Amino acid sequence: MADLTAPNNGPPKRKRPPPRLVNVARAERLTERLTSVTFRGDRLADFGPPKPGGHIKLLFLPDGVTWNPDDPKDETPRPPSRTYTPRRYDRDACELEVEFVHHGEGLASNWAQTAKPGDPMFIGGPCGGYDIPEDIKNLVLVADETSMPAAGMILEALPDGRQVEILCEVTDQKDERDLSPIINCSPTWLHRAEEGVRQGVLLERAVQEIAAAHETRHWWIACESATMRRIRDHLLKECSAEPSRLHTRGYWKLGEANYPDHDYGND
Ligand SMILES: Cc1cc2nc3c(=O)[nH]c(=O)nc-3n(C[C@H](O)[C@H](O)[C@H](O)COP(=O)(O)OP(=O)(O)OC[C@H]3O[C@@H](n4cnc5c(N)ncnc54)[C@H](O)[C@@H]3O)c2cc1C
Repeated sequence: MADLTAPNNGPPKRKRPPPRLVNVARAERLTERLTSVTFRGDRLADFGPPKPGGHIKLLFLPDGVTWNPDDPKDETPRPPSRTYTPRRYDRDACELEVEFVHHGEGLASNWAQTAKPGDPMFIGGPCGGYDIPEDIKNLVLVADETSMPAAGMILEALPDGRQVEILCEVTDQKDERDLSPIINCSPTWLHRAEEGVRQGVLLERAVQEIAAAHETRHWWIACESATMRRIRDHLLKECSAEPSRLHTRGYWKLGEANYPDHDYGND
């Protein structure tokens, strides 16, 4: 019989399925600072489809270590992981494409620089994502290099006829690219190098300019954590934006490795 005096800790947590072992099928340098890696494996047959803007965990097994996450008796410590966007999923081919920004030194960024066919990878997820509001008419996507893959997924999932404005902050013109191979769009590209400013400043300025001009719109904002928080504060406090129309997410944090995947800026 259930113990009715026990504290209510909410519904039981869903057990995470074990990460899937896949291999690199191909790796392609898209720009100087971006590599697309396509993973393939039978274990991807029931992977998705992921929600737009959802995420996966990539687990990097150290050289010389073996791990079988399907075996509950395997006591190998869970390998270090990083959060990425499942940009393109092809169920028939059992393939998943992920786009890696080369931001400098980092476990994942370094791995992607030398990724080659056959390299193994464990993939956890997919999880989360953006529930496109039913009443959406106007959406502003605010992205930096790391969230451009997610912005592309959202563009592809939006119902026809919605107005979208896209702000993308990148280092310079060499980082510009199509956000989607199937949706035509014209992002406003903001180049940090030309202006000589730190990451996020141009996104903040651009949001302030367009927020002043419009009232009712939805915002999807994903970038460096402190930048996201400043933008969120501005929209809520200075522009009286409705919290329900804001979807904000810190994708990484300056100076912090392995930043958590659940920074929505509302704590
Ligand atoms: C939901 C979600 C989806 C994401 N999707 C993608 C994606 O599709 N592609 C992608 O490239 N990234 C994506 N990211 C961001 C990615 O998880 C981080 O950039 C991560 O830190 C990269 O891991 P790393 O091992 O290379 O660097 P880490 O070891 O985590 O960090 C090392 C150092 O690099 C710094 N750093 C990390 N990222 C950047 C950056 N972009 N610019 C400058 N400095 C940085 C850190 O502050 C730290 O000081 C996503 C994050 C989230 C939360």
